[in-house]
Amino acid sequence: MTVKVGFLGGLGEIGRNCAVIEIDGEIALLDCGLMFPEDDMLGVDLVLPDFSSVVERGEDVRCIVLTHGHEDHIGSLSYFLRQLNVPVFGSALTVAFAKPRVEEHGIAADLRAVEPLEWVEIGAFRFALVRVAHSVPDAMGVVFETPEGIIVHSGDFKLDPTPIDAQPTDLATFAGFGRRGVRLLLGDSTNAEVPGFVPSEATIGGPLADIVAHADGRVILACFASHIHRVQQAVDAAVAGGRKVAFVGRSMLRNSAIATELDLLSVPAELVVSLDELAKLPPDQIAVICTGSQGEPFAALSLMASGSHRSITLESTDTVIISATPIPGNETAVSRVINNLSRLGVAVHHGRNAPVHVSGHAAQDELRTFMNVVKPQAFVPVHGEYRHLRANAELARQVGIPQVEICHDGDVVTLEDGKLTVGRGVLPAGYVYLDGSGIGDVDAVLRDRRHLADDGVLIVTVGYVVATGEIVFGPDVDSHGVSDNADDIHAAVAARVRQSLEGLETPTDLDTARRKVRSAAGRAVKKSVDRRPVVFPVIIEV
Ligand SMILES: [Zn+2]
Ligand SMILES: [Zn+2]
Repeated sequence: MTVKVGFLGGLGEIGRNCAVIEIDGEIALLDCGLMFPEDDMLGVDLVLPDFSSVVERGEDVRCIVLTHGHEDHIGSLSYFLRQLNVPVFGSALTVAFAKPRVEEHGIAADLRAVEPLEWVEIGAFRFALVRVAHSVPDAMGVVFETPEGIIVHSGDFKLDPTPIDAQPTDLATFAGFGRRGVRLLLGDSTNAEVPGFVPSEATIGGPLADIVAHADGRVILACFASHIHRVQQAVDAAVAGGRKVAFVGRSMLRNSAIATELDLLSVPAELVVSLDELAKLPPDQIAVICTGSQGEPFAALSLMASGSHRSITLESTDTVIISATPIPGNETAVSRVINNLSRLGVAVHHGRNAPVHVSGHAAQDELRTFMNVVKPQAFVPVHGEYRHLRANAELARQVGIPQVEICHDGDVVTLEDGKLTVGRGVLPAGYVYLDGSGIGDVDAVLRDRRHLADDGVLIVTVGYVVATGEIVFGPDVDSHGVSDNADDIHAAVAARVRQSLEGLETPTDLDTARRKVRSAAGRAVKKSVDRRPVVFPVIIEV
C-alpha cells in the first residue's frame, strides 16, 4: 500500500495552500486556497494552484477537506469545483464561509459540515478534524488514518490558552494520536522565525477598550472580516464605550451575519445601526467596524482614507484602528492608507505602533510544544516562505524528530513499507494567474507588463513600398515612458530607421522590414538613453 502527500501550493509562499493526499490511487485535496499577487505581478488579480494533475485524474478524486475559512485555504474552491465537483468537508463556519463564494460562481457544491472528532469515511480515506485556535473561529487540524500510519496536519494554528471562544487547540486529542504513534506531521511554519509564544487574542481587548474610551470623535476599526473574535472584541470595546456599531464593507456585513447566525458572534441587536442611522448620532457614540485592513483599494477603509467613501468623511478628531498587520504583498498598500489617514490628521493605531493585533500563527515555543505533543516519526514544514520552512525544520530537529524533510511546491512525499521518501518537482505546481476574467499561464503577458513598466514603449510608423524600398511617409515616432527628452530620441530613432530601411535590398517582404525597423529603433534608443523599450513597428504597405 502506498500513501502519498503532494504539494500544489503554500510551500515557498504564504498563500494558495493546497495538498494532495493519495491512498492507493485515490485522491483527497487538503485545502484549496489562493494567493494575492506580489507587487511585481502587474495587473494580476489572484494566484491559484495548478490543479491540472488532479483534474486529469478526476475519477480518482474523492473529496476536498478544508482546515478553516481563510482565503489562502478556501479561496480557489470555486475554480477547482468548476472543473471537478466533489464533496467538500469542513467545520460549520468554514463551510458557511465557502458557501456564498461558490454559489456566486453558480456552482451547486456538495458542502458538508462536520463536527470536530467526527470520523469521516469516504473511499480509501478516513479522517477527522481536530480543533485548533487561530485567527478565525472553527479552525481545524486534520488527522488521516492511513494504511501507512497516522498523518496529522496542524492546519493554521496557535496555542492560545485563553481564546475568545474558550475553545483552545485540542492538545489532549493531538497527544492521544501522539501516543498511538504519528507517522507524519505537516506543520504550520508561518511564525517559525518568531521566538517565544504569540500573545493570546484576549490581550487585545484591554488596549482596544482604552483607545475607544479616550477617543473624542468617531472610532473606525478595520480588521479581517473573517476574524470574528477580533470583531467581537471590537464590538465589546465599542459597547463598553457607550457607542453604537455599524458594520461597513461587503464581506464584513456578510461574515458578521453568518457568524451571528452560528452563535459565534454576539452583538446586541439594538446597538447595531445602519450607515444612515449612524449619520444622525454624535461622533462620540459612533463605532464603525469595516474592511480594508490590507489596504485593498476598494475596501471601506481605503476609500475613507482617500476621501472617496460614499457616506463617511473622516475628520481630524476621528480615531482609526487597523487591527492587523499586512500580509506579504500588501505592505505598500497598507502604508499608503496609513499615510492618507495621517494626512487627514486622524489618530491611527495599527499593529506596528499599538498592541491592537496579535498573530494567529504559533511562534517557536508553541511549535516545539506541539511537536513534542504529536511526537511524529517524520515532519514536513508547510505553510510558509522558504525561510519559514527552514526555520520550522530546524525546530523539528531540535526536538529530536527522527526524519525532517523540507519540501517545496510540486514535491511528493511517499510513505511505503515503513519508509518515507521525497520526490522533487513531481507535480506541476507553477503559479496560475487569474487576470481580469481569464485564468491561465500569463507569464509572457507579465513579462511584457514588467518590460513596459521598466522601459516604456516606442511606436514607429512608416509608409513603405516593399517592392521598391521607397519610403512614402514617416518614419513617425511616438513613445511613452521612455524619456522626458522625447523629441531628440524620436529624431534619432527616425534617422536610424530610415537609414536601415534604405539599406535593405529590394524587393523585400513585410516581416523583414518590420524586423529591421524594430532592431534599428531599439539600437537608437539604447544608444541615446540606454533603455530597451517595447518597440512596435507599424509598417503600412503602400
Ligand atoms: Zn493560512
Ligand atoms: Zn489561516
